[in-house]
Amino acid sequence: MNTSSYKKYLLSCSESLKEEKEINFSSDVTTDIAQNVFKNLKKAKKIASDIKTKFINKISDNLVIFDKKFTENSGHVHWCIAYNDFEIKLRRLLEKGKTKSVNLFPSYFSEELGLKNILENADIEIDNEQNDTVIFFPKFGIVNTGSLFLEFSSSFDMEQVLSSNTKIFVLPITDFVLKPDDIEIFVYLYSVYKNHNDFPYLSSLFTPQPLEKNDSIHVFLVDNSRSNIIANKEIRSILNCINCDACKTVCPVYNMVGDKPFDNVFSGPYANVVLPFLENTDNYKHLCFSCTNCGNCSSVCPMNIPVSELIIRNKKYFFENKIMDISDIRISKVLSKTLSSRKLMNQNKVMKYLRIKLLINNSKSVSNKFIFSSKTFNQQYGLKEE
Ligand code: SF4
Repeated sequence: MNTSSYKKYLLSCSESLKEEKEINFSSDVTTDIAQNVFKNLKKAKKIASDIKTKFINKISDNLVIFDKKFTENSGHVHWCIAYNDFEIKLRRLLEKGKTKSVNLFPSYFSEELGLKNILENADIEIDNEQNDTVIFFPKFGIVNTGSLFLEFSSSFDMEQVLSSNTKIFVLPITDFVLKPDDIEIFVYLYSVYKNHNDFPYLSSLFTPQPLEKNDSIHVFLVDNSRSNIIANKEIRSILNCINCDACKTVCPVYNMVGDKPFDNVFSGPYANVVLPFLENTDNYKHLCFSCTNCGNCSSVCPMNIPVSELIIRNKKYFFENKIMDISDIRISKVLSKTLSSRKLMNQNKVMKYLRIKLLINNSKSVSNKFIFSSKTFNQQYGLKEE
């Protein structure tokens, strides 16, 4: 692959590899805690996955219901397509309220939207002491009641958010469940898989009240390219993700290279699947090759997302839709023919090396440190050659 992003990615990976680090990609601790918390872990994962799938499969209808309920209760819903759309609408709201400072709570979604920059550009100060205007990121929206499920890291944070005069909530269009009863299972799965705890965070179910002061409660529903993934049925199940990061922890590649090569708020196996669709495809299509297909991510995922299979599906999608470079398509075809031919793989070490090196020399982006054993697998283990 010859894209500049891929070259940058490889360079960053090789720099990360020089750093000394402790490598541990075992999922034993998580699995032990999960088995203590859930009587039947397999069943719990299936229930959680079904709940999210049910919402995603009818996402447009469900969001319209949420909008209706939230608005009926005197809240305001702002629909945003991309982050710049979000920026315009948020700035308009803050200008209207003559807002000079906000209390911005941290979240991965705030980073994804570049909220700190948005506020800086609008000359709005971030003041974590005040509770006049807060911007907070709910864990989930609840369709049937028009409520928001909020998780807090302390009772002080909870007090600040719930007692604030103007509450601005921001969440991706995919982070919803249908009814309040659906929440509990996610709360426990998240605390086990993200924090290795068997007790959840402090939380509150927030529903605007009809008597609430007018114009004081807002929710921004932001797509930011998630509809590209909804449109792709092959990988749609990745939207069931609860951002627990368990797949990162068990990924041998991520353990070696870390966050830096991804150059994004998302990293690890989840990022390998979503970034080509959330961002410019050309800048991230190489991520489908950044995987050993060991399957650790799929086994650990609390939402039963077949992450490593989705990475393979991306690869197939890019090949079929001619999104890969022509030279990559040619190399992959020849390489696949070579590696799946018993006759060619039984050739002696020198011949095999020459053959592969010939291919690799055409692609400057592939490492040429190939080492072949002098014996074939069959010779090594005394099996009969076919
Ligand atoms: S893909 Fe699964 S394991 Fe990875 S962050 Fe999402 S829910 Fe967690």
